[in-house]
Amino acid sequence: MPAQIAHILHGLSCAEEVWPAGTKSLLHEGAFFLGCQGPDIFYHNQRTRPSGFLYGARIHRWGWGKFCSTFARLALGEGWKKEDPGFAFLAGWVVHGFLDRSLHPFIVWFSGWRVPSDPSTEKLARSHAFFERILDVLFFEARQHENFFHCDWMSRLGKAEDFSQSFWEVFAQSLWRTYPGAYGYDDALIRSQNAVRDAVGFMETSDPQNAKNAVSAAWADREDLAGRPAWGSYPRIALFHPGILPPEDFLNRQHGEWRHPVGGEPHSESADDLFDTATQQGGEALKLLAKAWEAPFEEAVSLLGRLEILLGNGSLNLPDAEGVSRGPQFSKPWDFEHLMELQRRFYLKE
Ligand SMILES: [Zn+2]
Repeated sequence: MPAQIAHILHGLSCAEEVWPAGTKSLLHEGAFFLGCQGPDIFYHNQRTRPSGFLYGARIHRWGWGKFCSTFARLALGEGWKKEDPGFAFLAGWVVHGFLDRSLHPFIVWFSGWRVPSDPSTEKLARSHAFFERILDVLFFEARQHENFFHCDWMSRLGKAEDFSQSFWEVFAQSLWRTYPGAYGYDDALIRSQNAVRDAVGFMETSDPQNAKNAVSAAWADREDLAGRPAWGSYPRIALFHPGILPPEDFLNRQHGEWRHPVGGEPHSESADDLFDTATQQGGEALKLLAKAWEAPFEEAVSLLGRLEILLGNGSLNLPDAEGVSRGPQFSKPWDFEHLMELQRRFYLKE
């Protein structure tokens, strides 16, 4: 899956397809930014207990369409307006999975993965997370025509307090109805609140406008590397955006061949091509959602049925033709040891 900035960029591109006159007037921006993170917010729930981490894995594996259409139907029943932060959150959430599905094979091919039993893959610890952050920087600069470190989106994210009691109830009901075996309803409500709080905290930690935490991460990595064997450690710098990159074609704009990490089929799309495909799909989904909000309830319910089909319930990770998640076999990773060391030098001004 791509990281936080790419998901917001994608969300904004999708919204432009539906509301060209200005997304800000229709959407509660901070809630939309947060909603664009989709089920990734549960992966960021690593501090506050009880955690909703399990929902991150479940939603990425199955049921994205069902979850979103249930959420939308309940929200309509509660009378949410388009100006409601809850609607903005839902709009962001609805497009998230398209970017995941589109870019994930590309990211896995170019970042590889660490195999705990194979020390030769140690240099790939957190390579996936770091490659996502390379894409964040390159996508942002190409699309916003601005230096990445001027991006102030992390300080504009919505907060848990922005949402109404009705929002939390709808969120928890949708989780509970889609994944009844995971937790009870009351539990789902607390876990979703904890996930939103932790996700906002996590994203603020790596705010591009505040390098303080990246510098600390670089220092801590240095101490780790000096003090004990690198084996089994996780480079902290990987969770921060790169400040310096060699002039490599990380986005594959030259259309070189890469292969699907599961089946090995050849591809030549650039990351931009994949982003644009996901924007088209996300734009269609938002159009349906917006239409449902204007339709009488009966018609809205049928439009949301179409939305579920459009989103699909298959995996957001590495789906096969049936949408079932598969483990990767093939990759050709960049030299992440070198790329991450470049960032340590950059942040420590060496
Ligand atoms: Zn995701």
